[in-house]
Amino acid sequence: MQFKDIVGQRDLINRLTEVIDSGRVSHAQMLLGSMGYGTLAIAVAYVQYLMCEHRQHFEAGSELRADSCGECPNCKKIQLLMHPDVHIYFPTTTTGRVKKDPSVSLFREEFNQFIMENRMYVTINDWYNYSGAENKQGSYREYDEREMQQIMALKSYEGGMKIFLLWMPELLGLKVSNELLKSLEEPFDNTLIMLVGENSSSLLPTVVSRVQTTKVPRIGDAGLPDEADGDYINARRLGDNYQDLDELKRSFVDWMRLLFKLNMEPLGKWVDTISTIGREKQKVFLKYAMDTVGRCFSQTAGASPANLKTGDERFDTMFPGMVTVRNLANIYESLNEAYRSVERNANPKVLFLNLSFQLSKHIKNR
Ligand SMILES: [Zn+2]
Repeated sequence: MQFKDIVGQRDLINRLTEVIDSGRVSHAQMLLGSMGYGTLAIAVAYVQYLMCEHRQHFEAGSELRADSCGECPNCKKIQLLMHPDVHIYFPTTTTGRVKKDPSVSLFREEFNQFIMENRMYVTINDWYNYSGAENKQGSYREYDEREMQQIMALKSYEGGMKIFLLWMPELLGLKVSNELLKSLEEPFDNTLIMLVGENSSSLLPTVVSRVQTTKVPRIGDAGLPDEADGDYINARRLGDNYQDLDELKRSFVDWMRLLFKLNMEPLGKWVDTISTIGREKQKVFLKYAMDTVGRCFSQTAGASPANLKTGDERFDTMFPGMVTVRNLANIYESLNEAYRSVERNANPKVLFLNLSFQLSKHIKNR
């Protein structure tokens, strides 16, 4: 993975290569941001740049100030995810294929294929689907942590650095986190541990305090559609579902009208329909709803016009007035909570029905 293949994020990448060039690389780091912002992709490109034998530097004014060469032995091995000193760890769970003790080594080939096929823009739910975990949550395992410790204690294969990328450290769990703390406190020479996560609130504060955190922001410089919210995975989903976007907009308009009247029979039908479209589309729908509410509020607050373009002019004129400083936070929180519940595989009928009642109350309380 070279930096040139990352979607946007040029400012962040340029800051990272500057730090690497200056030799001030911290041995314990965390990249933190939604995977759709490119967090894993940036981590892998970072490692490749760090290990590259012929770093390239571009003339002033170029989008990127530097990149790995993509040609040297280290680059080639990292591009194939076959470098013997770059170790990627990730959460696992039992599947149809691996019925017990789901160690990382049993999934490594599958995981590498999964992230390469998706150019490193992957979410934990995508991984569960890909590996056939169905509705089970993955986690880090003690035996994988022990394996990591053993590798850390050994010399690197190629005499250079040893790198440990831990994807989704949110799922480390208490025991493994505590074990990992020792390595973060007393690092081995020439070793980099990099956590690559989305949300630090589910990490032990002691872990967070021992890593140097770099936040990965929304992608603001790659011309993604507004509805993608700076997230390349959203943009890719929208691409897959673009013909469905008009349908989602219509569905949103219908829903909001039903919430006003709270007419149970058609609302029940609406909930039945949204329940069957699948989790990915439900997530796109809820993101769209959050984005729309945000725009409405900025119009109400006099900041910028909502510009809804739902295809229903009357709705586009009337609806922004429904979102005010009194109900914005509640509406947003209900939608966001629903989004997280979809990710956790909650029952969609119950979820969208509850959400409907909550929103109905919030919207009327403007
Ligand atoms: Zn290279």
